[in-house]
Amino acid sequence: MRQNRAMMSTDTLEKIVSMDCVQSAPKDDPITLCWLGGEVMALPIETLIAYRDVIHRIAPHARNRLVTNLFSLTHEQIKFIKETFFSIETTYAAGMKMSLDGSEEKYQHRFKRNLKKLADEGILCHVNVELNDKTIEAGVDHIIELARETGQKCWEFDISIKFDQVLEKGVQVNDYLYADDVPMTVSYKQWADYIIQFIRDRNKEMKELGIRIGFIDSCFSKDNDPFFNTMKTHVYLTFNPNGDVLGAPVFSALHPIFYGNIHQNSEKEILNHPTKLKHTAYEHVGRFHHEACYHCEFFTECKGGFSCVPITDGSGECVGMKSVRSYIEAYRTEFAKHPNVLWNPSLGELPNLTFDELER
Ligand code: SF4
Repeated sequence: MRQNRAMMSTDTLEKIVSMDCVQSAPKDDPITLCWLGGEVMALPIETLIAYRDVIHRIAPHARNRLVTNLFSLTHEQIKFIKETFFSIETTYAAGMKMSLDGSEEKYQHRFKRNLKKLADEGILCHVNVELNDKTIEAGVDHIIELARETGQKCWEFDISIKFDQVLEKGVQVNDYLYADDVPMTVSYKQWADYIIQFIRDRNKEMKELGIRIGFIDSCFSKDNDPFFNTMKTHVYLTFNPNGDVLGAPVFSALHPIFYGNIHQNSEKEILNHPTKLKHTAYEHVGRFHHEACYHCEFFTECKGGFSCVPITDGSGECVGMKSVRSYIEAYRTEFAKHPNVLWNPSLGELPNLTFDELER
């Protein structure tokens, strides 16, 4: 609901956090409530406090996570963030992001200032860098400089979807009613090449600044930790302000793939909605029926990657970033040979070899 600026009512929130699946989550593994929009921090502080009061009253064990664009960050909001959220996350792109009056410059300035403000307050913020064409053009040094300027250490690189096109034209769904073909701004090959540049050319700076990149860490530890929760329909629900329910938040504007509405459907109906079951089947079975993945040595850890885009895009790379995974495997071999020379198990200081030499 990006276009109508709706706000969730406390009544809707009460219904959500009263669901059995929230209430029955174990105390030592509580449910996580991600607050995202739109822009959560554009709401009046009184509204945010009212949301928090509802959660504290009905689901006191839930953990709260904030997703914000950091355009506004007052002292009052920083206090609220510290008191409310166990983690905070933002998105960044070197271009195509602007303030409400259309200024890219103002956006960049305020984003950097506020990201640094968080670091100065001791708040670690995960930054999801949208790898659109402008960010790739700006080069890896742009991100290194941003990390240096702001003092933030956790960076992630997301596929950049052409949301304007999606909102204007909608998307096709497959046999599983899953929108797996959304348009992107750059190819997988460009994305993978960019990530490899980071590991290969800027390892020293990453070590110096303590930068961690989630995708690289998960490749190294061989976790199946796909991007942006698009393979977690079985444990993940998104609610629009009016109570409409869906799976991954990237689909929030696409009506045919909703699972019902919290005001009109029972929890049982929502959790067993045929579309939800089909989505889960797609993410856990249907998606694997792709020839690129059949014989892939990384299948166990990757499982076809980010599920709302195609597995291949004709660029010679796949969404699981096979070339990045291969590169990290080559690095792992080097690390085993030189554990005292290389930096740390998740990234390491690469030996002074070219990509081709490392691959060999
Ligand atoms: S790395 Fe690529 S080919 Fe391999 S499983 Fe992942 S998406 Fe499929």
